[in-house]
Amino acid sequence: MTDSVKAEAANTEFETILYQTPAPRVARIVVNKPEKRNAQSYRMLYELNQAFDRAAQDKGVSVIVVAAAGPDFSSGHDLRDPDRMKAFEDFDTVGTWAGFEDPGVEGRWVIEKEMYLGLSERWRNIPKPTIAQVQGRCFAGGMQLIWPCDLIIAADDASFRINAMELGVACAEFFHEPWELGTRKAKEILFTGDVFSAQEAHRLGMVNQVVPAADLETYTLSLAARIAEKQLFALRLAKEVVNAAEDRQGRRDTLLLGFAYHHLSHAYNQENFGMAADPTILKKYGKRPG
Ligand code: ZN
Repeated sequence: MTDSVKAEAANTEFETILYQTPAPRVARIVVNKPEKRNAQSYRMLYELNQAFDRAAQDKGVSVIVVAAAGPDFSSGHDLRDPDRMKAFEDFDTVGTWAGFEDPGVEGRWVIEKEMYLGLSERWRNIPKPTIAQVQGRCFAGGMQLIWPCDLIIAADDASFRINAMELGVACAEFFHEPWELGTRKAKEILFTGDVFSAQEAHRLGMVNQVVPAADLETYTLSLAARIAEKQLFALRLAKEVVNAAEDRQGRRDTLLLGFAYHHLSHAYNQENFGMAADPTILKKYGKRPG
């Protein structure tokens, strides 16, 4: 098959994303629900996972770009998807826990361990360089797609937001804030839930480069192509050793602690208000529970 026929065949398997090969040795995965601001359904998360696997296993790919169609990168998790439980029938799970339909704490734990912690952590460990290409708003669950990437390139119109506190929840499921923002700023952003700009994210070290929105795709692709010329085995080892440095400093332990505290918050709200988010806080912000 030619490359374009192969790309076409790959795309027909996906409903919510595109799989492209825009340059030699570069794969690009595009979340493609712009009419929903790329809200992440369970189907989308599993399709992303399949696409990451495809790129990881393809000997012709060295670098993976993650991009988004439309003006915004992602509004977060799609909590309105009525068919979301069907994803557990349609896709192989990445974890070995079961019981997604179980009521109460256990079912919620299993689902979020699989969909949010399990997938994001798996993507973080894909053994090839990954680059997130971010424009517009990247809010809430959107962060759990870009943080696992090795590099983040932001358009100058990009903005970011962590909204857990607006649900009466300590932090999101994939707890990476201290590593992305530094501890002082992590606390400020968790406490306030304030939106922060691409320029601020760059200053904090969360973003590698900020480029004019019109140049975002070209810049990211040329960076990917430049990295893809290097020896793949050396790239894999460079990634793993930097990831190991973070893990030796406690990243993995605090990731799991953050996930546990996220669920302690859910349990607190359930016990006190009969729902996973705090309705008195939700009312102030007009949000649905997540
Ligand atoms: Zn949750």
